Amino acid sequence: MSAQSLLYEGKAKIIYTTDEPEILLAHFKDDATAFNAQKRGSIAGKGEINCTISQALFQYLESLGIPTHFIDSVSPNSMRVMRVQILPLEVVVRNIAAGSLCQQTGLALGTLLKQPLVDFYYKNDALGDPLLTRDRILLLELATPEQINQTQQLALQINQHLSEFFTRCDITLVDFKLEFGLDTKGQLRLADEISPDTCRLWNSFDTDPNSRVLDKDRFRRDLGNVETAYQEVLQRVLAQVSN
Ligand code: ADP
Ligand code: MG
Repeated sequence: MSAQSLLYEGKAKIIYTTDEPEILLAHFKDDATAFNAQKRGSIAGKGEINCTISQALFQYLESLGIPTHFIDSVSPNSMRVMRVQILPLEVVVRNIAAGSLCQQTGLALGTLLKQPLVDFYYKNDALGDPLLTRDRILLLELATPEQINQTQQLALQINQHLSEFFTRCDITLVDFKLEFGLDTKGQLRLADEISPDTCRLWNSFDTDPNSRVLDKDRFRRDLGNVETAYQEVLQRVLAQVSN
């Protein structure tokens, strides 16, 4: 298998086509962006860390019956994935109030939600990824009613699995963003990545609002020790999957 041509370069990954039309190569970069790319930087080793964490979590979810795009790993910072047609939705699952949920609702940071909340955002950088309603998704024909329901159900199942997994790592899964796509058979699959770039992860037994943060908020909020935090998540995830 040889990487052929660059299909798309995003903020965190480069996607290449391969000899096989249904298979893509996802290369994870060290580049870091936040606030819709207004803040830019680099996190040493991030590509390898996020690729390895994503791989472990995709394999874990597959073992529990969740369809994902993951095929296999090719190098420490690249993986082969099934080509899917990405739904232009960022599906965010929240267990604890943080980030824009606090800003938009007034809920205090750290409020435990009585049940997980699934928020849909429009995956559209030019518009700043705005929050959607179900009716707006249908209005813009971003997904069918069945796809919305299926996506929401899958997202909640994934949340259940990942929350339990991270609890075993002594990490609290605060919230995370998922992307889904349709494979060539029209089946919905979890795609993109699951990493400290796309999840809020708090060190479980630390109540300090800064030191507990093990995710991209360290970069967003200039908290320092970003690489150390990402490494810590990687080590705990690997220790858990080898159990
Ligand atoms: P972005 O800057 O849009 O967040 P990324 O660098 O994170 O981009 O990722 C590159 C792009 O690859 C994203 O737009 C993502 O939706 C897309 N992508 C992820 N997995 C797949 C897949 N299996 N098939 C096709 N596209 C994918
Ligand atoms: Mg992305």
